[in-house]
Amino acid sequence: MSISSDLFTRAQELIPGGVNSPVRAFRSVGGAPFFTKKAHGATLTTADNQELIDFVCTWGPAIHGHNNPVIREAISDALFKGTSFGTPNPYEVEMAELIIKMVPSVEKVRMVNSGTEATMTAIRLARGYTQRNKIIKFAGCYHGHVDSLLIAAGSGALTLGKPDSAGIPESLAQETIVLPFNDLAKVKEAFANYGDEIAGIILEPFPANVGLIFPREGYLQGLRELCTKYGSVLIFDEVMTGFRVSAGGVQQHVGITPDITTLGKIIGGGLPVGALGGKAEIMDHLAPLGPVYQAGTLSGNPLAMAAGIASLKLLLEGDAYATLDKMGQQIASAIKATAKEIGLPLTVPQVGSMFCVYFSENTVTNLDDAVATDTERFNKYFHRCLEKGVYLPPSKYEANFISTAHQQGAIDQATDILTETLKEL
Ligand code: PMP
Repeated sequence: MSISSDLFTRAQELIPGGVNSPVRAFRSVGGAPFFTKKAHGATLTTADNQELIDFVCTWGPAIHGHNNPVIREAISDALFKGTSFGTPNPYEVEMAELIIKMVPSVEKVRMVNSGTEATMTAIRLARGYTQRNKIIKFAGCYHGHVDSLLIAAGSGALTLGKPDSAGIPESLAQETIVLPFNDLAKVKEAFANYGDEIAGIILEPFPANVGLIFPREGYLQGLRELCTKYGSVLIFDEVMTGFRVSAGGVQQHVGITPDITTLGKIIGGGLPVGALGGKAEIMDHLAPLGPVYQAGTLSGNPLAMAAGIASLKLLLEGDAYATLDKMGQQIASAIKATAKEIGLPLTVPQVGSMFCVYFSENTVTNLDDAVATDTERFNKYFHRCLEKGVYLPPSKYEANFISTAHQQGAIDQATDILTETLKEL
């Protein structure tokens, strides 16, 4: 028996499903997960000493690769000063300054401990600010496991075939209006019916928990205009895309200004973090200034701040985004070219260092399109690649991430394996 399977057997007796986050259990692709004992650069080392080129990058945060020496040193420096103070600390101010400098729409920012906390607070703030209750979300957009938002969510919830979680009161779910992504007419209709009850719209501007979907021309602009017209709050959930798609996220990439932005992943440099930021006028509704309560024992934690600051500063140095973009284009165009050569129906949406492989010849524009892609073929592809040393996200609904550490040979090696494996399907 391998060490991973032994660990998984023990874990299943102790932890529900053997994992502390559902998608890690490989339910979607089948088989049992491997355990990782260490990671460095673009590579994971499993408990059984298999080396894997990693395209999950801890689900986004590891944009500089695993165990990056600069981030490690920043954590180490902070560690020797103490792990948590329960008072404000200087790192929090530096972090706020960096986020405000990098994300165009953010005038003030509040740090929290996860993406889920960020979106939970963002919708409470939108509701408190507007004194309205209804929230519009889009099918396939995942915003963490917030009660009001775990409805037609993508990612793990979708993978498990449980788009609606048990334990969420119907009365609360009724305050969430779920619409298909990329259909502006439906949003207009919702505003025509409920305009004065809609606190806000929350969306992943590039949905990446159903693979990777791009908004149609004018769609995000249309949402912006509707929110302005009806006095509703536009929330961009950039937990995944923030600092990934560009230094200023999707909003900078497309030039649309949301009222509130939620962040996470990269701003923690691999430690637990989330944040929400936006217009000062709205943010000042948070306690202690305003009536919307939010708090956290470990919020602004010095280790997490130090790691995140180091991570953001690395992105501002040199040509990180150009390097990441080049690798993204290299891998996506190689996969597309091979698919064309062998006549395999496949599309590869890619932006910068994010990409996804859909086994379908049709452009995926919403959740239904993503569901219709070939799951069996994806799962086979995932397992074949894993055997050969490339770890792709273990579900067709997840995006791949590239790190700057992939440039040291890993991207070429992985491109070969990913294209060769296509020919075996
Ligand atoms: N929003 C988006 C867009 C996400 O991708 C995620 C996590 N994948 C979250 C929110 C939730 O973040 P966390 O897992 O840190 O709670």
